[in-house]
Amino acid sequence: MVPTMGALHAGHRSLIDRAVAENERVVVTIFVNPAQFGPHEDFARYPRTLDADLAMLAAAGVHAAFVPSVETMYPPDGVTGLSISGPLGERLEAASRPGHFNGVALVVTKLLVAGIPDRAYFGQKDAQQCAIVRHLARDLNTGVEIVVCPTVRDPDGLAISSRNVYLSAAERARALAIPSSLALALARFDAGERDATSLATIVRSHLDKAGLDIDYVAVVKADDFSEAETAAPTNQIVLAARIGSTRLIDVVRLGVDTAPVGRGV
Ligand code: AMP
Repeated sequence: MVPTMGALHAGHRSLIDRAVAENERVVVTIFVNPAQFGPHEDFARYPRTLDADLAMLAAAGVHAAFVPSVETMYPPDGVTGLSISGPLGERLEAASRPGHFNGVALVVTKLLVAGIPDRAYFGQKDAQQCAIVRHLARDLNTGVEIVVCPTVRDPDGLAISSRNVYLSAAERARALAIPSSLALALARFDAGERDATSLATIVRSHLDKAGLDIDYVAVVKADDFSEAETAAPTNQIVLAARIGSTRLIDVVRLGVDTAPVGRGV
């Protein structure tokens, strides 16, 4: 199973291609999940491109698409919810988007129950979500193997996101400070810097200089998203920043990822 919110792009495609290569049957789910959007977030204007999405799934050799309605996923008399506790459910993305991960957890659980897949595929780009889904799959004894796939980037280094369509050309150019800030920090880590605060400061000052509105920058342990004081391989630098009204997130894995800069950038 490959759960998505549609508006499919090359990032989704990489998950789908991997799932098709590794499994006999693949179902892709397309559902813009209202429960994971805050009251002032972009649920209503989130891009919806169902015809193009279904054409992509057919071309990719996917066996089924599951495109449920809101009423199917959320019966109006529903009383059941899920909550994520500890740093994963409280820090960073969870702090900035109250209720978001409870909504993600609920819909992922519903989708896993509906499909009972052997494996479910998620993108590393949504790093905190991946960590939560890995825990959820274990905590609820689902027996589902969670497969995390690397972040796919545009040639200029920007992580591909359905929300990139909101960016004007000028905003998109400024957004490149995100991958270049992470590339700088990765280079410092590779050169021996192990002070997590210093690495975060490199990222912050680069984003500041580009005039981006920083939500958070942190060096975290991959499993539980607690703060790493001394940076170590497999720790992740996670960030969220606003460019105009668009909020973007990105992540690199120390000692694992190569620098997220585009050819010629
Ligand atoms: P979404 O439709 O945004 O909910 O994303 C569906 C899945 O695709 C999630 O597991 C995302 O992490 C993953 N995904 C989104 N963008 C990318 C990307 N650029 N590279 C890899 N995976 C991605």
